[in-house]
Amino acid sequence: MKDAAMTPPEPSFRDSVDLMFNRAVRFMDLSPGLEEKIRVCNATYVVRFGVRLRGAIHTFTGYRSVHSEHMEPVKGGIRYSLMVNQDEVEALAALMTYKCALVEVPFGGSKGGLCIDPRQWEEHELEQITRRFTYELAKRDLIHPAQNVPAPDMGTGEREMAWIADQYRRMNTTDINASACVTGKPLNAGGIHGRVEATGRGIQYALREFFRHPEDVARAHLSGGLEGKRIVIQGLGNVGYHAAKFLSEEDGARIVGIIERDGGVWCDSGIDIEAARQWLSKNGGLRDLPGTRFHEDGPAMLEAECDILIPAALEGVIHRGNAERIRAPLIVEAANGPVTAGADEILREKGTVIIPDLYANAGGVTVSYFEWVKNLSHIRFGRMQRRAEEARSALIVRELERLSEDKGLGWTLSPSFKRDYISGSDELALVRSGLDDTMRDAYRSMREMWHARPEIGDLRTAAYIVAIGRVAASYRAKGL
Ligand code: GLU
Repeated sequence: MKDAAMTPPEPSFRDSVDLMFNRAVRFMDLSPGLEEKIRVCNATYVVRFGVRLRGAIHTFTGYRSVHSEHMEPVKGGIRYSLMVNQDEVEALAALMTYKCALVEVPFGGSKGGLCIDPRQWEEHELEQITRRFTYELAKRDLIHPAQNVPAPDMGTGEREMAWIADQYRRMNTTDINASACVTGKPLNAGGIHGRVEATGRGIQYALREFFRHPEDVARAHLSGGLEGKRIVIQGLGNVGYHAAKFLSEEDGARIVGIIERDGGVWCDSGIDIEAARQWLSKNGGLRDLPGTRFHEDGPAMLEAECDILIPAALEGVIHRGNAERIRAPLIVEAANGPVTAGADEILREKGTVIIPDLYANAGGVTVSYFEWVKNLSHIRFGRMQRRAEEARSALIVRELERLSEDKGLGWTLSPSFKRDYISGSDELALVRSGLDDTMRDAYRSMREMWHARPEIGDLRTAAYIVAIGRVAASYRAKGL
């Protein structure tokens, strides 16, 4: 209470994104007209539609916001939550523009939302609602393979994307590219391996890349690698779960704290993520998770002492009221907008290093891009690359055998080795390596800016500068 009374009001989410944008353009040389053009949201469509359910007509409010069409299609998820409103979808659409530009995925930015608590409805009811929402958006080309391609976000997943794809196909029976109208579909409906885990996987690759640069690690007052680092994560949904799982199982990091809706759990020696996830889905909360201490006040755990804090749930959870008390020296924004512009300033002064959302959680849209390309090419993703790789591998095998024979070395390559070596990579491996390359390249471009111009001060501003520069270049090249 004391904090709330003393701290000035926070800007809205969209204002927060604009403030971050404004901070970045101060270091750039854009004409004021172009700056304004890039910042503003092009259009937001609001739809109210009725669906007959449980013997009555229920009215729902949905949004699809298009922030920037410097590249098309525009891209971004659809969120189902009672908190959805115009300000939120516009902020999220703007973040999509900058995110895609930063990781060089050739899309503009968009975002959608439906004001609904999905847990209040049965599956068949959600299907009816989703199909009707799809109809409303698709008839205005706000779902379209060449113009606007949604994806999962908070409260939606493969199931909803399959309904959207099917509804779109029914409305466009002659469109051979219909399945590219949405990404994040199940595998048997045109999806791609590795999309579900993609955002969490991207968080892991982002952190791995960060820890490859000792100079950057030192800026966060840390040293060494990911092994043994103590992590607190907020939200064990799709993104938080995968990030925590991969970091603990593959990189030796310790998840010491998890914050969920009902409170937080703590264990110094590290929490078993699979067990926590199962407990959560069975009990709807983390209370009494074996081997952990439960804390009623979840948000207070954001302030706990740890090495890395990963907010992977809602926006605005680190704000002016608690920023001063955040003790983690490194924050990774798995959620979109978890740190308000006000908190960002406080944390920058304190020397906290933030790996910003537009970079950290870009794994989702990166793999969405692979899915979209796969759908449009109408061939199994990677088949072309695979043919080339196979030819190369076969050549190497033949060379090895010739060398062995010429020199009388007596090497033998077993038939199974030759087969596995030649036809090595499958779709999942290709997706993962493509994502890894993308995350490395984007980190490097962001860090180069961060180091080259010390006055910039933080990674977020550096990321915005790189992203805005690319959007500006594309407007200059093709006109407005
Ligand atoms: N909703 C995700 C995001 O915020 C994914 C968007 C997409 O794949 O288009 O980045």
